[in-house]
Amino acid sequence: MKIRGNLLSGSRRKSKVQRQLFANAMVTQRGAVLLGDSVACDAFDESRPLRVVTHAHADHLGGLRTSLKTCEKVLMTKATRDLIKVIEGPDALSGGAVKTLEYGKPFKYGDERVTLVYADHIMGAAQVLVEDSSGARVAYTGDFRLDGTPVLECDTLVVEATYGTPSCKRSFNVDVRELLVSMVEKQLRDGTVYVFGYHGKLQEVMQILHNADVSVPFVMPERVFNLSKVCERHGMQLGCLTLSTREEAREMLNGNLPCVAFYHMNSRGTVGLGASRISVSGWEFQSACRQIGHKEHVIALSDHSDFDGLIEYVRRSKPKRVITDNFRSNGESLAREINKRLGIRAVAMPRGN
Ligand SMILES: [Zn+2]
Repeated sequence: MKIRGNLLSGSRRKSKVQRQLFANAMVTQRGAVLLGDSVACDAFDESRPLRVVTHAHADHLGGLRTSLKTCEKVLMTKATRDLIKVIEGPDALSGGAVKTLEYGKPFKYGDERVTLVYADHIMGAAQVLVEDSSGARVAYTGDFRLDGTPVLECDTLVVEATYGTPSCKRSFNVDVRELLVSMVEKQLRDGTVYVFGYHGKLQEVMQILHNADVSVPFVMPERVFNLSKVCERHGMQLGCLTLSTREEAREMLNGNLPCVAFYHMNSRGTVGLGASRISVSGWEFQSACRQIGHKEHVIALSDHSDFDGLIEYVRRSKPKRVITDNFRSNGESLAREINKRLGIRAVAMPRGN
């Protein structure tokens, strides 16, 4: 009994130390990333007066209606606001105190300063930095791809963990964007090319093709069209966009004429069957391009860092402690690897997810 008692008090002591160590950040069971005293990112938390939405993907919009009802301010970039209105409907943000912030311009609340910093992910995506008057810095990466994302140096870092296991590495010897362009150009000789992807990624593909002077019409259903128009308003250049319901678009699709048709991944089972089809996905690690059907390929275009990118971000951020997001993905492995490879104390939160 004595041994058991000692063990219990030992683990209690350990969890108390952990609570103190990670006192200024945590990820809750509902997926809210709490930073400092005032901020909850990407899910609702009743203890925080400020809600931050890092970007418009659904797994970062948890409890948004409740946040709009109860929080003093709901902070996001203008592009994220506009994308949410298309994805979730025009009234999705009504009835709340939405405040849009520009990248790099701090918002002061009490003792703290909240700053949204650019993240290379989808249009409007942001990292979040909270600083208090003592100079303590707590940061959350949100979703990001290392290449174009400025690394935030901080004391406590909360990092996404989508590709947080060592097997999730994309060490291809080819430029995935060039590969995508050449595949589309080649397939256009046979007629329409269908591209399937998630919101944000589809617009990135349009931009890649447009920049490479692929000048055929880009055809898409209404929601993809409206999201693309938001991206254009916020600075992306996407090419010649046509609604799939327009007569000229229907003629192109029905006649298998050369154009690129962009559809959400969810339409893959029903749209463009028998035509040339390309899906863009981050869950590809063996090769940059994989054939999965007669005229069907998957290309490894990701808007997240792979495992090496995640580790590299943490190394450059030089934090004293790290929390890996164990709500949106499995953060346990990344926490272990950060401990092991970088010697930085890291835990996955929430526990046991
Ligand atoms: Zn995302």
